[in-house]
Amino acid sequence: AFVEPIRLDVPGPMPFRAMLVLADDTSSKRAERMRADFLANASHELRTPLASLSGFLETLQGPAHDDEEARDRFLAIMKEQTERMRRLIDDLLSLSRVEMNEHVAPTGSVELNDLARDVTEALRLVAERRAITLELTLADTPAQVRGDHDQIYEVVENLVENAIKYSPDGSQVRIWVEAPRTRDGAEHMPERMDPQSGRLTLSAPPLDPDARFAVVRVRDNGPGIERRYLPRLAERFFRVDGQKSGPTAGTGLGLAIVKHIVSRHRGGFTVESAPGAGSVFSAFFMLAPAQATAPPAPPSGT
Ligand code: ADP
Repeated sequence: AFVEPIRLDVPGPMPFRAMLVLADDTSSKRAERMRADFLANASHELRTPLASLSGFLETLQGPAHDDEEARDRFLAIMKEQTERMRRLIDDLLSLSRVEMNEHVAPTGSVELNDLARDVTEALRLVAERRAITLELTLADTPAQVRGDHDQIYEVVENLVENAIKYSPDGSQVRIWVEAPRTRDGAEHMPERMDPQSGRLTLSAPPLDPDARFAVVRVRDNGPGIERRYLPRLAERFFRVDGQKSGPTAGTGLGLAIVKHIVSRHRGGFTVESAPGAGSVFSAFFMLAPAQATAPPAPPSGT
């Protein structure tokens, strides 16, 4: 940041001019490097499916032209690669949108139980294709949180999609919402977790000490994640080794998007995972002011 030159009124024959430069050289250089890395990564990620597409196109125009079986196989791969490019572009746009308004506090409020139910119903078919069951448990109190409906939807959707994507066929994914029952209930604070124990806070901006939180958690019985990878999960384009290819290969942008949205909402985002033990991802959001002071409502069931 540059500050206007200031004229100092010091007695003497010459007016004294001083320039104060507050630019933080290291951080602006770092930001620039990150932008350059991001562009390089994004181009690379887009170029890979594109190269595959043009390779198959050439083969289809040439050697495989009259081979019906090869043609069908190649077309299926091309469809998959096109899908992959679409996912990448969607995620890139989503990330850039989120980053653009990250410093603008969200207005509005959302009922987290309703939202978790909507996401679960929307993804039930996708899960059923691989015989995965989604088990939803709602909080027994209303969970009206502050924030932008579409963005919070995107958070929960990303977490449930990941849980499905990384789960074995026929397994179960649990989604549940917790909200404080009592007026002073501080039971749902984003945990400051310890990476040594396989639990980690991926994002928790300075929390409002007076805020109370509701949380949506997603548990899967997938492969779990090695401790050394946990701190890197929300980095853009980061994917755990061994999960980088195949039809379910993601973009590596989903959790980066989640992290940005949660920090814009001044909430918390945590993961608890260990190889072989599955994973639990949790997103905490501040309760809306009305509910933060209202007495608890009677249980509403699930
Ligand atoms: P992707 O689009 O690749 O899923 P994400 O940013 O959502 O990107 O996740 C980053 C990486 O974290 C994934 O590539 C995967 O390696 C790992 N990961 C995310 N969620 C899970 C999960 N539920 N179980 C196991 N690994 C996961």
